[in-house]
Amino acid sequence: MTAMYDVTVIGGGPAGIAAAIAADKSGARVLLIEREARLGGILKQCIHDGFGLLRFQEKLSGPEYAYRFIHTLQQTRVEVHTLSFVTHINALSKTEDDQPLSSNSKGTTGFVVTITSAKGMEKIATQTLIFSTGCRERTARQVAIHGTRPAGVLTAGSAQYYTNILGQLPCRRCVILGSGDIGLIMARRLHLEGAEVLGVYEAKPTPSGLSRNIAQCLDDFAIPLHLNKTVTRVFGDKRLEAVEIMSVNEAMEPIAHTEERIACDGLILSVGLIPENELAERIGVPLSPLTKGPVCDQCNMTRIPGVFSCGNALQVNDLVDYVSESGEIAGRAAAVFAMGKEVHSAPRYAELCPSKDILAVTPQLLNLDSLEDRVTVFFRVREECSSVCVRFMLEHSDRQIEIFSRKYPHLRPPEMERVILNLKNSTLSEHTRIMITVEKARSS
Ligand SMILES: Cc1cc2nc3c(=O)[nH]c(=O)nc-3n(C[C@H](O)[C@H](O)[C@H](O)COP(=O)(O)OP(=O)(O)OC[C@H]3O[C@@H](n4cnc5c(N)ncnc54)[C@H](O)[C@@H]3O)c2cc1C
Repeated sequence: MTAMYDVTVIGGGPAGIAAAIAADKSGARVLLIEREARLGGILKQCIHDGFGLLRFQEKLSGPEYAYRFIHTLQQTRVEVHTLSFVTHINALSKTEDDQPLSSNSKGTTGFVVTITSAKGMEKIATQTLIFSTGCRERTARQVAIHGTRPAGVLTAGSAQYYTNILGQLPCRRCVILGSGDIGLIMARRLHLEGAEVLGVYEAKPTPSGLSRNIAQCLDDFAIPLHLNKTVTRVFGDKRLEAVEIMSVNEAMEPIAHTEERIACDGLILSVGLIPENELAERIGVPLSPLTKGPVCDQCNMTRIPGVFSCGNALQVNDLVDYVSESGEIAGRAAAVFAMGKEVHSAPRYAELCPSKDILAVTPQLLNLDSLEDRVTVFFRVREECSSVCVRFMLEHSDRQIEIFSRKYPHLRPPEMERVILNLKNSTLSEHTRIMITVEKARSS
C-alpha cells in the first residue's frame, strides 16, 4: 500500500476536478482517480456552448469550461491517476489490514481504495473520500419500450459520443424520446449534421428541459415537440426500422387505439439520469429517495464521517457552475476533516423538511458542529408554478421563525434553484426542523 492521502477524489469530471483543487488549496495531500484517459467527464463531448454563464459570465463550450479547471489543476500538487477504475473500498483499521465498511463503522481511521489500471490492482490508503462519479442515463428497458433489440436505439449521451468524439453519425432519420436537455441538444446536433429529426416526443404535458434549450434547439430549427406522447415499441431485426408512438393519459399510461408507426433508423433516448452511486451504496452510504444521491450535510458530507459527495453523483444538475461549486464545498470540507481540525465522531444534525411541492433539496441535514453563518441550499419544485413564495422556517417545539423568503414569478422542475440562508442570529438544536414551503405569493 502507498502512503496515506488526506483526500481521494473518485471521478475526474468538473465536480471532481473542482473538489481536488479546493482540497489542495486547503493544504491536503490529494489523489484524483479517473477511469477514462482524459479528465473532464461528460464535458468532453458537450461541444455546444452555454457552460459557465454564472461563474465566468461567458458562454463557453464544455471542453473550454473543463480546460479552465484542468489548467488550474495542473498548477497544484494533486496526483492524478487516469485510466484507473475504483472497484472496492474498505475501512482502514488501526490493528489489521482493511476491513469491510458499513454505515455503522465507527472509529474508522480512513479507507483503503482498490484501483484497477494497466499496472494491475493497487491499493491506496486515504483519510477521506469524495465521490464525484457523475450520472448514468436511463435505457430503453428502464422505460418499458417493447419489441426487438435492433441497432439504432441509443441514449442521447451515446449518440453525442458517436457524433462529437468519434465523428460518426449514428442515424439518418430519427425520433427523440424525452425532452430533457440532452435530448434537445442532440435534436439540434443531429439536425446540423444532416440527419432528419422527425420530432421530440414527451410523455409529460410540459417539456423537461430548460426553456432556453426549447427555443434554441427546437424552435430555431423547426423541430416539432409532441407532448403527451411516448414510444411504446421498436421494430427491426438487425437495424431499427420503425417505432410505435402512442398518446398517454395523465397517469402517463398509453391510450388504446392511438398507435402510430413512424419509419426511422434511430431512436435517441433522453429519459432521465440516475446518480452513479454503486460504490457509495456498497459501503453503506444512505441515499435520499428524492435526489437518488447520498443524504448529506451542508459540507456535502454523507452519513459516513469522512465520506463526501458532489456534482451529479449527489444530485442531477442542470448547470455545471453548480456542479463546480458543490465540488469546492466537498473538497474544502474533506481537507479540513482529514487534517483533524473538525472531527466529531457523532455529529449533531438539524433536518431540512421540504413540503410535498418540493421535488428535491440538498443538503438534507445541517451539521450543527460545523455550522457557519451562511449555508447554500439547492432545491427543485415538483410541478411548474407561477407567482409563488418559497419560505424557509425554523420550527422549534413552541414556535416558527422565518429565516428566508423569496418571491418567484415562475418555477419549473428542470431548473434547480440556489438560495443562501443566513443563520447568524438563529439558534438551532437537534430538535429544530427547517421547513421549506411553496405558497401562492400575495400581491403587494
Ligand atoms: C449532454 C449534456 C449537456 C449539458 N449541457 C449543459 C449546458 O449547456 N450548460 C451547463 O451548465 N451544464 C450542462 N450540462 C450539465 C453538466 O455538464 C453536468 O451536470 C456536469 O458535467 C456533471 O459533472 P460531474 O463531474 O458531476 O459528472 P461527470 O462529468 O459525469 O464526471 C464523472 C466522472 O467520474 C468518472 N468515474 C465514474 N465512476 C468512476 C470510477 N468507479 N472510477 C474512476 N472514475 C469514475 C467518469 O468517468 C467521469 O469522468 C450538460 C450535461 C449533459 C450530459
